[in-house]
Amino acid sequence: MRCDNLENMKLNALQTADPEIHELCLAEERRQFEKIRLIPSENYVSTAVLEASGTVLTNKYSEGYPGKRYYEGQQLVDQVERLAIERAKSLFGADHANVQPYSGSPANLAAYLALCPPGETVMGMALPHGGHLTHGWNVSITGKLWKSAQYGVRKETGRIDMDGVRRLAREAKPRLIFCGGTAIPRTIDFPAFAEIAKEVGAVLVADIAHIAGLIAGGAHPSPFGHADVVTTTTHKTLRGPRGGMILCRAEHAAAVDKAVFPGLQGGPHNHTTAGIAVALKEAAQPAFREYARQIVLNARELAQELVARGFDLISGGTDNHLILIDLASKGVTGKRAAQALDRAGVVCNYNTVPFDPRKPFDPSGVRLGTPAVTSRGMKEGEMQRIAAWIDAVVSAPEDQARQARIAREVRELCGAFPPPGIRLQ
Ligand SMILES: *Cc1c(COP(=O)(O)O)cnc(C)c1O
Repeated sequence: MRCDNLENMKLNALQTADPEIHELCLAEERRQFEKIRLIPSENYVSTAVLEASGTVLTNKYSEGYPGKRYYEGQQLVDQVERLAIERAKSLFGADHANVQPYSGSPANLAAYLALCPPGETVMGMALPHGGHLTHGWNVSITGKLWKSAQYGVRKETGRIDMDGVRRLAREAKPRLIFCGGTAIPRTIDFPAFAEIAKEVGAVLVADIAHIAGLIAGGAHPSPFGHADVVTTTTHKTLRGPRGGMILCRAEHAAAVDKAVFPGLQGGPHNHTTAGIAVALKEAAQPAFREYARQIVLNARELAQELVARGFDLISGGTDNHLILIDLASKGVTGKRAAQALDRAGVVCNYNTVPFDPRKPFDPSGVRLGTPAVTSRGMKEGEMQRIAAWIDAVVSAPEDQARQARIAREVRELCGAFPPPGIRLQ
């Protein structure tokens, strides 16, 4: 393993101080290099983002906000956070940005704290239909401290039932409505959600954790101008370090900031803020628009190739980076398929499908996505090969010889598409 000098120096230090962790990091680097990673919430950050995330900014406490801190010594950290804020606002066209949430879930909790007192009603998409835990699902604290009304997709179309959303909103009168999710393969209709929220007097929160990079790159319609508040992770399609952000209209800025700090968090993770700033700068480049477009083209190609091989895709295809497959017709469960695929070097996750008769721990589906493979420069031709491998594995999930052969072919393909941030020797 050899990288540039700084990385080399750091890795040497790690190797000396803690060979066990060093070995595990190297092995993980190899795994990320050699496998086709199709988990739609994962990606590869650039070397620059990695570097920023591993800086001495991790040594600094800075509770508060730029210009209003509770500790001294903020001359440089203030500038880092201001850059991140300005870049976020300009990239998405938002009035206000808070870049401090530790991740997507805390960002959502901050939205609750800012806008919806406990005991009030929140409306979100049901987890088994593609929503997120934090949108009021019962095992999450958001489903315990708040009353929750959950919408879903239509059985026939696999798409969000907007008539159902309107009906439920009129009935439940939520204070907050979440749109967005973790397993939604289709475009979110932000104007339609905004109209419903307006009608019932609710605040609309668009959770764009999965699609932030597509929105930044112009490959998915933007929620800005429709949603009151937008929450996101920074590490999925946006290709930054693990973190979260809240963007909002000016009228909610003070409440949002107060909810993040001191409401929920202490000191922000400044090394992460630096990484986010770098990722936001990268996402504003013309090349990122091309990247976002290619993610969608790749997903569409992969979806078409799978449909041609008899796979049953929820909603029949995809508009974005994500594909949800119901494997019932293939006679294999999601978990068995995902485990067999991993042995063959293709990493995805098992996932419930809407109206799944099976339990979440061994559901009927698998979820695939193209952000990570697109970051390595793979295009439609590679998607065709990946679809053929998925088909070969799923149609014989116990055939370990076949999996070993495909894993070799996968390694060979991956060798031709080195991912950002990793250079194996
Ligand atoms: C990933 C995700 C989150 C949570 O992000 P974490 O960083 O894992 O806490 C929230 N909402 C949606 C829609 C997500 O996809």
